Amino acid sequence: MSILLNPGPVNLSERVRQALLQPDLCHREPEFALLQNSIRRRLLEIYALPEDEWAAILLTGSGTAAMESMLTSLVPEDGKVLIIENGVYGERLSEIARIHRMEHVSLHHDWGEKIQTDRLMEILQSINNITHVAVVHHETTTGRLNDLAVIARLCRSYEIQLLVDGVSSFGAEAFNFTNWNISACAATANKCLHGVPGTSFVIVRRDALGKSNTTCHRTLYLDLPTYLKNQDANGTPYTQSVQTLYALAEALLEHEEEGGWQTRHQTYWRRMDIVRDGLQTLGIQPLMAREECSCVLNAFHLPDGMSYETLHDKLKEAGFVIYAGQGGLARSLFRISCMGAITEQDMQRFVNVMKSLLSNKIVLPR
Ligand SMILES: *Cc1c(COP(=O)(O)O)cnc(C)c1O
Repeated sequence: MSILLNPGPVNLSERVRQALLQPDLCHREPEFALLQNSIRRRLLEIYALPEDEWAAILLTGSGTAAMESMLTSLVPEDGKVLIIENGVYGERLSEIARIHRMEHVSLHHDWGEKIQTDRLMEILQSINNITHVAVVHHETTTGRLNDLAVIARLCRSYEIQLLVDGVSSFGAEAFNFTNWNISACAATANKCLHGVPGTSFVIVRRDALGKSNTTCHRTLYLDLPTYLKNQDANGTPYTQSVQTLYALAEALLEHEEEGGWQTRHQTYWRRMDIVRDGLQTLGIQPLMAREECSCVLNAFHLPDGMSYETLHDKLKEAGFVIYAGQGGLARSLFRISCMGAITEQDMQRFVNVMKSLLSNKIVLPR
């Protein structure tokens, strides 16, 4: 079996894989309600969020479903959202707003660029009817971890609600839901939580969702108020992916037993440092300084004279799946993620394979 160094889906632990095999279950039976309730509670417990103020809403769909439901359900008809872009996922938020004809402005940066808070402040000062800011926490395009604390401080001073795409950071990076004045955060089962793909979720501040709950719904299937009402009443509006929830429940148990997000954060960094340090000795440079990166994924410059395709295929033969840069970055970068049931030995072996690939390359006649 390959070691997956792509940013989700991840290698499953044996216990999560086995959890998929639990008995067939109807989503209208009380056993399902128990399963759903325990997952909703555990998701809040990761960041110690009280159940009376916060809710985890479970959706069947990938992370993008959670992003789309968050934007369309939290920003009311008369609202206006400022979307910060510095990679693919920020631009995806803008596309969602465009498709749903939401009032929005986009603060664009080149991919990987640090968010310019002075430009953000200028916009917040000059456009006075912005109700929400939407931003990606970890921009998986480049591995940059955006500084939510600074953005949150600005939003708070203008009484603007903050919507976060935490799809590739929830469960492994710090989230200060209360201090950062977050109204909602979209995330998924199959990245830092090590579940299987198919379930995503939105953590919402209950009163923020209440405020947006106008009579006008932008979407049927992704409408969070509908899900919240049903899930609070032990139900679900539509069929959930039952087996995926079995796996997520087990993955959350494992996450907690291992020591929660803090332990996962440290574990990922230990893995990533093996890769960063190892590749550095081979002359392969990371795209960004360590303190600008998430623990989840880092991007690296391709070795001189080697295309991504060649590197990918040779590594795959050796049992490792890496990830290309997106869009124009595909020619210059590759990405390595540290999520999933893998080990430090796997990372060391990856570095060793890279070393032998590069030394073979050098002796090969051109
Ligand atoms: C993976 C990811 C998503 C969602 O992608 P899906 O393919 O829909 O799961 C959204 N935002 C970020 C930051 C991501 O890394």
